[in-house]
Amino acid sequence: MNAVVPLRAIAPQIDERIYVTQPHLPPLEEFIPYLQQIWDSKVLTNGGPFHQQFEAALCKYLGVKHLALFTNGTLALLTALQTLRITGEVITTPYSFVATAHSLVWNGIKPVFVDIDPRTLNLDPSKIEAAITPQTTAIMPVHCYGKACDVEAIQKIADNYNLKVIYDAAHAFGVQTETGSVLEHGDLSILSFHATKVFNTFEGGAIICQDERTKQRIDHLKNFGFVDEVTVVACGINGKMSEINAAFGLLQLQHIDDALARRARIDAIYRERLRDVRGIACVAKAGETVANHAYFPILVGPDYPLSRDALYQKFRDRDIYTRRYFYPLVSEFPIYRSLPSARPDNLPVAHAASQQILCLPIFPALTDDMLDHIIGIISDI
Ligand SMILES: *Cc1c(COP(=O)(O)O)cnc(C)c1O
Repeated sequence: MNAVVPLRAIAPQIDERIYVTQPHLPPLEEFIPYLQQIWDSKVLTNGGPFHQQFEAALCKYLGVKHLALFTNGTLALLTALQTLRITGEVITTPYSFVATAHSLVWNGIKPVFVDIDPRTLNLDPSKIEAAITPQTTAIMPVHCYGKACDVEAIQKIADNYNLKVIYDAAHAFGVQTETGSVLEHGDLSILSFHATKVFNTFEGGAIICQDERTKQRIDHLKNFGFVDEVTVVACGINGKMSEINAAFGLLQLQHIDDALARRARIDAIYRERLRDVRGIACVAKAGETVANHAYFPILVGPDYPLSRDALYQKFRDRDIYTRRYFYPLVSEFPIYRSLPSARPDNLPVAHAASQQILCLPIFPALTDDMLDHIIGIISDI
């Protein structure tokens, strides 16, 4: 039998580094009974008991009516577009993780980039109409950093032009607006439960939809199009979440409120202590009434003595790995650069933000000492 090589032997430095995030994990012993149950039942996937329980528990926790679990957020995005049979052109933001635009291209859809709002860094509703053409079928906004988009304004445009709205809500687990869960807006919303997100199942994702019929279509699509043993109704894919991930998610739900509370505390300390640092601006709250503090983005302005990249490097030199989310913009990657909507003069706000943005470490296990150290690096200049 192969011995497990101790982590320290492979990466002795790993304990000392501070990354932008660190996954929140429950005590291992709490997970063992779930594994025992899977070993006893020998049901590993295909919508087993943990999958069913986790879907129900998530609906309840998030305050949504219909939710379908997925292997990851990207497959959820791909399947969401198939669910609504989206074609032609889709309006989206360049200020996101690449999976947003990739999901369009994988479906043979042309992404049309529209600039962002300088305050919230979300898709700017006032710029959407000018980008609509006869080929436009949908809008795909992102609740960037878990800050709620202007959902009312976006819905109004969608209604006027008969467009679908699919929210990439990968950052927006647990976020609420005045009307309840932000995930209830638009036709569909997708979540990611990737290790780096606020709520993780190692890998995982979900689509939130508004009615039972759509939920059924999604369930068929994520299982090759099978309805029963002999009936295939659509050209589906394999997007099913396994029983291990679903069981883990059920356990994670028991700890999420504690994790979110710790994040809220860190967010408040950062805001308080960075408020008077000249040239540093914390990104403002947007339309959310309940936030998840998924990220802590700051804008390093021209009044700050160091450039954004110099500050990023200063952190790296001290083994602190902040992230420039989102630099480069999706529209700057070679595969998207030649699109007319990707021209920098079409996206001035997004370009400016991507030059100034820096996401600071925020995760439940971040100690007050680490926080002091991080804030000290920014303010001691
Ligand atoms: C993480 C992320 C995704 C992809 O989710 P995965 O679960 O990693 O596939 C999509 N969009 C955004 C905005 C993300 O941050």
